[in-house]
Amino acid sequence: MLSIPALLLQTAAAVSPLALRPDTTRLPHDVTHYDVSLVLGDSGRHVLGQIDVSWRLESADPVELQLDSTLRVIRVLVNGRENTRLVRTMWGRAGDRIAVPHEGRAGDSLSTRVRYRGDVSDGLVFRQGPGGRRVFADNWPDHAHGWLPVQDHPSDKATVAFHVQVPAGMQVIANGTLEKIDTLPYQHRVWHYQLNEPIPTYSIVIGAGTFAVTPLGRADCPARCVPVTLWTDPADSAWAVSGPFRRAAPMVEFFSRLIGTFPYPSLAHVQAATRFGGMENATAIFYNDSLIRTGQLGEATVAHETAHQWFGDAVTPDDWHHLWLSEGFATYLAAMWAEETGGVAARSGVMRQEADQYFESAQVERPIIDPGVLDPQSLLNDNAYQKGAWVLHQLRGLIGDSLFAAALREFYRAHAHGTAVSADFADAVKKVAGKDFEWYFRQALTQPGYPVLDVRWHHRGNRINLDIQQTQPPGWGTYRLPGVVLRIDGKDFPLDVNGRATHHTLRGFNRPPRKVELDPAGWWLMKARVSGGQ
Ligand SMILES: [Zn+2]
Repeated sequence: MLSIPALLLQTAAAVSPLALRPDTTRLPHDVTHYDVSLVLGDSGRHVLGQIDVSWRLESADPVELQLDSTLRVIRVLVNGRENTRLVRTMWGRAGDRIAVPHEGRAGDSLSTRVRYRGDVSDGLVFRQGPGGRRVFADNWPDHAHGWLPVQDHPSDKATVAFHVQVPAGMQVIANGTLEKIDTLPYQHRVWHYQLNEPIPTYSIVIGAGTFAVTPLGRADCPARCVPVTLWTDPADSAWAVSGPFRRAAPMVEFFSRLIGTFPYPSLAHVQAATRFGGMENATAIFYNDSLIRTGQLGEATVAHETAHQWFGDAVTPDDWHHLWLSEGFATYLAAMWAEETGGVAARSGVMRQEADQYFESAQVERPIIDPGVLDPQSLLNDNAYQKGAWVLHQLRGLIGDSLFAAALREFYRAHAHGTAVSADFADAVKKVAGKDFEWYFRQALTQPGYPVLDVRWHHRGNRINLDIQQTQPPGWGTYRLPGVVLRIDGKDFPLDVNGRATHHTLRGFNRPPRKVELDPAGWWLMKARVSGGQ
């Protein structure tokens, strides 16, 4: 799907920093569907492909697809015909861009067919293992066009159908539902998959190999339960089923209760080739092969990738600079799964680790929404994950469990199968809380760093005088911390901290306190030192 053109927003006078779209990719038209036919060779890296793209035109400008320049385009059709009616060019190619002129106008539908072939050098990983040949897509952030002609930016989501021809001994996994398998006369099969929900191109994948496929659903699953399967090397199946994927089905039920109905018809967890620990491809999550083979994959990764089906896949950042809406959400939802299964202490432990990693990171000097960085790979950092998770945790502390859950549900309801920027999440929070938290999101997303508080207490008479200084570097600015809890000998006092220096007086203390703690429940990403005396 194509949302409001980025250029329009950037030139508008009063764009909220929460709605900035600094990505330089400009998509002139909207792709609604990719129909992909692929023939994978029996060996080597050769691919023969044909992709039918359905477009909704935004103007009379040519439609444009990206495809790796090493792949040879054999033929391009427009609306099923050779593009001969146009005088000058039938189609043009410059580097990895294929431009196709047409006679359509804004609002028209158009279809293009591109037939291509060649040895794939990017986006598809070819492996020869003990179980035979294996092929996997690894697209993030924009490697899909290494093997598929696509409009390769997450703001343009589309539905997808696959028809993948492989030797009869191989199985194929792809996005969506397996519709049928055709057997060809020469020991080959064609696997047909279809997904009717639009997904970002980084998530459009295939995998081929020899798998043990295990259903993970519960025997007592209610009628509308999501079918969850596990695809592994036969040798790794037993460990994976009883290890990290043991609770994969209840995990889907937990997130469905928390956020909303699972966005797709099914979910497959696949032992695959990916540069990442896990890659959240819609309906077909790919996990790093060696993490499973060596028994190192943990349930936290499964929870993170599963949560991405809602946030990342179904609700997709409209611009890479809002990547925290994907990674921060998945990271925090994995912490909530830890809380669901191991209690508050388990969640606190996870969030403490995330905080420690962030404090050590060079990213503390940069804000989460960082318009100066244009490479998505560089935006995949401790701001998007660790601090992003803390943006949600702090918000939960500010508005409480039930409003926080309502905000997740509202954001998902409003943007499922579409795209969003941070301002859209701020709007969802405002809607459910009945109160504007724009100040909070500006602070959390556009300021670098974190509060460093120096809290000094002084007991005199029956009073405790508090002097709270914000001592973080001046370049980070100051922060508002409404209701941050000071616990004095077990009793909680919520304080509003704002600006470089805050003073409070608490009464009713006939004796000096024995123990003074700031934010004992750990709702704020900050460092604090508490000291005092008489
Ligand atoms: Zn992730």
